Amino acid sequence: MLIKNAELKGKAFADLRCDQGLIVEMGKGLQALANETVIDAQGGALIPGLHDHHIHLYSLAASYSSVACGPPNVTNSKQLADALISDKGEGWLRGIAYHDSVAGELTRWQLDQYINDRPVRIQHRSGKMWIVNSRAAEILQLNKHKDLQGVHCDDSGQVTGRLFRLDDWLREKLGVSTLPDIKPVSTLLASYGVTGITDATPTNSFSMVAELTKAIEQNKLLQRVELMGAIDLPESDHPYLTRGAVKLLLDEHKLPEFDQLVNHIQQAHQQNRPAAIHCVTRTELIFALSALLAAGRYPGDRIEHASVTPDEALSLMQEAQVSVVTQHGFIKERGDQYLADVKPEYHELLYRGKTFLDAGIPLAGSSDAPYGSPDPWLTMRAALDRRSDSGKTISKKECLTPEQALALFTGAARAPGSAQREITVGACADFCLLDRGWKSARTRLDCRDVKATIRDGKLIYYR
Ligand SMILES: [Zn+2]
Repeated sequence: MLIKNAELKGKAFADLRCDQGLIVEMGKGLQALANETVIDAQGGALIPGLHDHHIHLYSLAASYSSVACGPPNVTNSKQLADALISDKGEGWLRGIAYHDSVAGELTRWQLDQYINDRPVRIQHRSGKMWIVNSRAAEILQLNKHKDLQGVHCDDSGQVTGRLFRLDDWLREKLGVSTLPDIKPVSTLLASYGVTGITDATPTNSFSMVAELTKAIEQNKLLQRVELMGAIDLPESDHPYLTRGAVKLLLDEHKLPEFDQLVNHIQQAHQQNRPAAIHCVTRTELIFALSALLAAGRYPGDRIEHASVTPDEALSLMQEAQVSVVTQHGFIKERGDQYLADVKPEYHELLYRGKTFLDAGIPLAGSSDAPYGSPDPWLTMRAALDRRSDSGKTISKKECLTPEQALALFTGAARAPGSAQREITVGACADFCLLDRGWKSARTRLDCRDVKATIRDGKLIYYR
């Protein structure tokens, strides 16, 4: 493939030749070879292919066939009932993005009032919990599984339909046939310029490696994938699929023994894998950082989310040399809710940006889709202006420049927040080509400016 007249780093126009997935020649006036695909960039900016450092691919695919059960579309119980009834499908109804502001702490009895003629499962926006109706509880035989950790019962010992952290168990019960087609979401990501993703689903295991390998081979999955998962996640032998960090979840109401967490981190390191620790509260963050320090550092160790970062955590982060993988898109998408729910003294500490960079802490961006929009450009804009949906600014001092916002998505997959991948001879041919120069693109940071996406020297998107 020959790309002509591309703008590189906001400056010189150049031609690039790619062969076998690598850049093999760069210069001016390169001539096309016989049968070579030629793309005229017409002065558009060529940037490294974007990498979304934290996404849940299959959940994202499933969300496209699910009913939205939370803000902004659904804000009260009447709208929730209407949304559920309006789904005309058969069999299991899958709801997503429920938030307690809609109808309180949902139970199966409440759900039954809205819909009881088909099994329903609704995922809480936090991703931690599913709520099922009584029809679903029957099918899942919840009464027989009262002792299973995560099956919630009320004071009288009745199952409430609230299932905590039981995704794996649910998937097993529902069968693999429920796995959705990922081609549509992979194509969508390609249209945003995304050439790589890190799937951060903690339960990824042997079957997911097989599933993704198949999807890549069938051309349904167009991105490279760094796959996080549990400690027993096997290695992959496909060049586009790499075994990533061990994902460790923390829940501040149920923190593990400190030594146990240290041990898990060390087990990850022994497998030559970094640890990726989910931290959304201040307590979880300090606990995780202390454990990382006790475990000894390993390159690529990462904090997922860092939703609330107090100043005292910064020096621990520096000491532990961890990367932060955050979601500035939540400032836009959930900012108004945060302003209502989060203590005012924490507002300045939400999904910080510039503070991390000033402290020399590697910072990478991600969508956390389907919990956030999969559009990385939305996240970049939020990192830049930090405005909520209603236009309120959250901690202006954390705003990034357009270049810093872009850099959230252009570092190496294995080292989130590392320097932008170089576009140079010998480098991997993963690019995002914009339809305009960077000088104009930086004022918009808009996914509609993506003209072509190239992974491994092959076009995966072109318009
Ligand atoms: Zn996530």
